[in-house]
Amino acid sequence: MDIIDFANIPCTSGALEYLRKSDIGLNDLCTQAAFESIRSTGKERVLEALKDGAMKYRRSNKLAAEKELLAYPIARIIVSCINNNYLTKRYALAVARSSYEHIKDLKNAVLLKELTADLGLSIIFDDWMNVSMHFTDYIRFSHALHDPKWKMLNRTVKQGTLMISRDDLARLMEEAVRQKVESGLPHEVPNDIQVALESYIAEVTEIINTRASKQGFSKEGFSEVIPDCFPPCISAAKSDVQANMNLSHTMRFAMTSFLLNIGMTTEKVTEIFRTSPDFKEQATYYQTSHINGASGTTYTCPACATMATNGNCPGKILCKKIEHPLVYYRRKVWLENKKRVVQKQV
Ligand code: SF4
Repeated sequence: MDIIDFANIPCTSGALEYLRKSDIGLNDLCTQAAFESIRSTGKERVLEALKDGAMKYRRSNKLAAEKELLAYPIARIIVSCINNNYLTKRYALAVARSSYEHIKDLKNAVLLKELTADLGLSIIFDDWMNVSMHFTDYIRFSHALHDPKWKMLNRTVKQGTLMISRDDLARLMEEAVRQKVESGLPHEVPNDIQVALESYIAEVTEIINTRASKQGFSKEGFSEVIPDCFPPCISAAKSDVQANMNLSHTMRFAMTSFLLNIGMTTEKVTEIFRTSPDFKEQATYYQTSHINGASGTTYTCPACATMATNGNCPGKILCKKIEHPLVYYRRKVWLENKKRVVQKQV
């Protein structure tokens, strides 16, 4: 692997070794005026991850690649100091996505073997350059991928190994990069480094806070979550989840979007699903983030007509003329607040 590979897949041992041997120490990188543009690049990569879940640039010349690689520890420090679960996951995902863009174009079998081994995957190339791997490696990295094609049922296993396409290998390696980056964050950051990068950390923190408040209650005008005001459909779904029952896909979407629409955080919604028999934290977190606008579109809970069509409406009679679960909630919250004001006055 060379500096171009390291810059595009910066979590490899080779990249780490390259940084260790570099003449530029971490302290200089974080403090000296000469490295200001590298620090800015590190911050920009964090912001790209936060906003787009991806990084735009792939480096193909040595000078730019070296700068990119030097910016990697800066980005990791910023993410570590902020220590926000959502940011950490977004950043790991963005590094993985940009690594994938590089990996899928790699043709050299020796390089691919070296890289897969570094990421904890063992692969075998046959004489026709087909790739096979042990099923345990396959499961380790495919379990977070939800397309049915990744299910073991849809693969042929012979003597413990299975064949995969080069595209699928790149996708598994992307997942391996994501896991590796995420598992190393947050890391300890010495105080003097935190102080040196204070302004970058503050800038990213401010953007996170602004996004959080935009995604919060303001859209629906709610200031707190009041479960007693949930419509019957959402209350029933919540009870089912608490009773360890799996929800249908459509009901899961409805409940998740409803809770996010009334201002619950992604983390809190993920937590609610923890008691589901099929709960997978990472997958649930990603689905919830997606519904909450992580990829650009924020979804709204379906209207009552759709809920009824999907068999998710248990209480049309109770709800009378209500057309939307959010309208039900809004009215109940309004009544509840009115009741509280009256109680205070008594
Ligand atoms: S009428 Fe609407 S709000 Fe009421 S239970 Fe059915 S879907 Fe929910």
